[in-house]
Amino acid sequence: MSRRISDSAGKSTQSVHAGERNNPQSDSITTPIHQTSTYWFKNSAEVIEYQEGRKQRDEYGRYGNPTWRAAEEKLAALENGEEAVLFASGMCAATTAFFALLPKDGHLVVTSDCYRRTRQFCTDYLVKMGVETTVIPPSDLPALKNALRDDTTLFFTELPTNPYLRVMDIPEVTRICHARNVKVIVDSTFATPVNYRALEDGADIVIHSATKYLGGHNDLLAGAATGSKEDIQGLRDAVGVLGGITSPQNAYLLLRGMKTLGLRMQRHNESGLKIASWLQGHPHVRKVFYPGLESHPDHAIATKLMQGFGGVVTFELESDLEGTMRFVDACQLPYIGPSLGGTEALIEMPVTMSYWDKTPEERQAYGITDSLVRLSCGIEDVDDLLADLEQALAKV
Ligand SMILES: *Cc1c(COP(=O)(O)O)cnc(C)c1O
Repeated sequence: MSRRISDSAGKSTQSVHAGERNNPQSDSITTPIHQTSTYWFKNSAEVIEYQEGRKQRDEYGRYGNPTWRAAEEKLAALENGEEAVLFASGMCAATTAFFALLPKDGHLVVTSDCYRRTRQFCTDYLVKMGVETTVIPPSDLPALKNALRDDTTLFFTELPTNPYLRVMDIPEVTRICHARNVKVIVDSTFATPVNYRALEDGADIVIHSATKYLGGHNDLLAGAATGSKEDIQGLRDAVGVLGGITSPQNAYLLLRGMKTLGLRMQRHNESGLKIASWLQGHPHVRKVFYPGLESHPDHAIATKLMQGFGGVVTFELESDLEGTMRFVDACQLPYIGPSLGGTEALIEMPVTMSYWDKTPEERQAYGITDSLVRLSCGIEDVDDLLADLEQALAKV
């Protein structure tokens, strides 16, 4: 197996070295893209050795691939988890985890501020298995306590949540949930293991849309889950049946992206905080939501748990739908587009990008207003981003 990097190594050392050095045939520095759908056995005895678990190796491309494995080991090291497993997308990580861990007619609790497709999976698909979902406000511990029932098996939250960047007290959440035998899944896409490691605070499984910061270059879709050997084996078995695997090339791009995770997050954190602070003082900006700001409702717990607050800044303009569209259209550096966490800055209005098909009442229920903007800072020089925002705000 590849070289195990010390658990006390820094995040950048782990991002570069963990999972690598497992290429005895080529001695190449980079982990090759193992572009194969299947694997060959030397003889029948090897097949049997493999089947009886006496030989660790790959059998078929839906169950394992050396390029994936390097990425999985790197992520497990970064999250300080025993094992990780890759998926075709972040959604596939969440849906496979739910399928694997929820019993028929079960019950799960999720927070209201969350990726809308995750919510949709609960309301449109889990109901077919008789699974009931209770939605609680983000960061609301009393509501969590009230929502737990005897048949509850899972609690799921993002950290920070999308788009309001709420940060829940995970040590307290895990105490409450574990006392009731409820597993805690944290979607840590917005935090990354550089800024927060929920497993260290007792969470059972951390999932990621690796499409975002882990990949980091807006060039791949992938998902991942990290946790105990036992839990991850359950998810690995499930994805082997459900089939939502990622490709060897994507795993390679993910490996390459993760090598610079520490460096990129440092820049994302610095730019996010600087831009959020600057926006907060601007006359055309009504409110800024960023956990690094004292004005954020979860600032205290975020400061306690997190090493940085990331590159996503959500804000509301002192304007209406048309004025906000003028501002977004006037931005020269950020692309208008969904997603986040890449080298390129992206900007979007949740109302037009994700909630345009909803009624005003539904949007209000999710807190999506006409002048809400979500900016994902890339790794551009922050002064250039600030200058661009300043000229665009003049067009509101
Ligand atoms: C993007 C995102 C997802 C979905 O991930 P995909 O890779 O697009 O499937 C899930 N959760 C969060 C928080 C996200 O930002």
